[in-house]
Amino acid sequence: MSLHIMYDHQCPKCAAYYIPYEQNIVCPNCGLDENEVDDIVPQLVHSANYQKNVYGCYTPIAWWVGSFGDHVALLLFEILDKFNVQKEKEFIEFSREYVDNRKWGNQLYLKEHIRNLSYKVYLEIENKQDN
Ligand SMILES: [Zn+2]
Repeated sequence: MSLHIMYDHQCPKCAAYYIPYEQNIVCPNCGLDENEVDDIVPQLVHSANYQKNVYGCYTPIAWWVGSFGDHVALLLFEILDKFNVQKEKEFIEFSREYVDNRKWGNQLYLKEHIRNLSYKVYLEIENKQDN
């Protein structure tokens, strides 16, 4: 089994999916500031660590995408796994290249949003390992 992130959020103005995961995160598509904060990072970290502990890598073999949160989680897991198999680059540089090289289709607005969120999740995972 895997720990899913049952989370969906759409901008009320432009309907773009995104996650206001901390204060001052505005809609990455239209810039609307909803003053909403959904504390999703701990769930992402928990799910990532669970995957890693049980299966040895972050990306699940099978991952049913049941929500936008699952979609984002899968992207983050891929970034974390690919980061771990290379040793040359720091996370910020690596994640920038990853999102630059990925095909985003009509979700290009998510590019920086996902990169910033991946860095936050990465730091949380690193901090927990130190404790
Ligand atoms: Zn919007």
